[in-house]
Amino acid sequence: MANKITGVNGPITGWLDGHTYLIGLMAYPIRHSMSPTMHNNAFAKLGLNYTYLCFEIGNDKLKGAVDAIRTLDMRGSNVSMPNKKEVIQYLDKLSPASEMCDAVNTIVNDHGVLTGYTTDGIGFVQSLKDEGIDIKGKVMTLTGAGGAATPIAVQSALDGAKEIRIFNIKDDKWAQAEKNVKTIQEKTDCQVSLTELTDQEAFKQSIAESDIYCDATSVGMKPLEDKTLVSDPSWFHEDMVVFDTVYAPRTTKLMKVAQKAGVKHVFDGIGMMIDQGAASFKLWTGKDMPTDYIREIIF
Ligand code: NAD
Repeated sequence: MANKITGVNGPITGWLDGHTYLIGLMAYPIRHSMSPTMHNNAFAKLGLNYTYLCFEIGNDKLKGAVDAIRTLDMRGSNVSMPNKKEVIQYLDKLSPASEMCDAVNTIVNDHGVLTGYTTDGIGFVQSLKDEGIDIKGKVMTLTGAGGAATPIAVQSALDGAKEIRIFNIKDDKWAQAEKNVKTIQEKTDCQVSLTELTDQEAFKQSIAESDIYCDATSVGMKPLEDKTLVSDPSWFHEDMVVFDTVYAPRTTKLMKVAQKAGVKHVFDGIGMMIDQGAASFKLWTGKDMPTDYIREIIF
């Protein structure tokens, strides 16, 4: 079934012609992604002759797909699961944050030289900045050590967070949590610790002493949408930030608990998602994504 194209009233000129820069998104599965809608609308709004397309690429086809970035002289690509770590071996350079996270979500092609970046952490820090909150000097309790939590911890430490207290369950992400602590200790001045989430007293006390509580676990999104790692509003204090990286549902159970506690700054993951896209957009085009417009028309 053909989708209806809206907003086009005549021949398109200066866009999708012989000069168009191509940006990809290489992941599997990926057809559900909002990134093409976000980037293509931003290109159109700014009149930039770029286009952004999804490619269903798993680890097996990744080398060929990365070679194609050079061969086709694409401007770059986003990379998502299962390729975020695997792709590193095919790139020429890594940003400092990417190296610390051992993961890439953005590739930039400068005349055949491919550099890997990770923009999720930049998105997190920027989305706080958008709300007038600077990560610098802050104490943060962070649950999670996976694909979202790792860049959040690394970028927050790089941008001057005073202390990050990581809590995680002892699952397959525990080794990554230990690695995150070691890397942050070695490369930044941020104090960092790791505690098992089963130590609920330590978790409660840590939140009470924090400026920010960020949940970057899968709890709160499907199929765990009726769950939260903090269910007692008295654990929070009004002046803190409670940040849930989940963006569907828009109001998670955790956010409801924080709202009940009267927390002034309660955020979902939409701002982070738009701002990580904006950081990639800037790397490819040199321009600022019109994020207010994107939020208004898409989210
Ligand atoms: P992941 O699988 O890499 O990591 C999941 C994390 O959740 C791990 O630390 C794991 O230990 C923890 N976890 C899983 N089940 C748990 C449970 N029952 N109790 C406690 N901890 C548990 O996943 P990810 O890619 O890091 O995604 C994590 C969350 O971040 C998801 O909710 C996702 O929607 C969100 N996310 C948001 C953005 C954004 O831009 N806003 C970007 C990426 C991911």
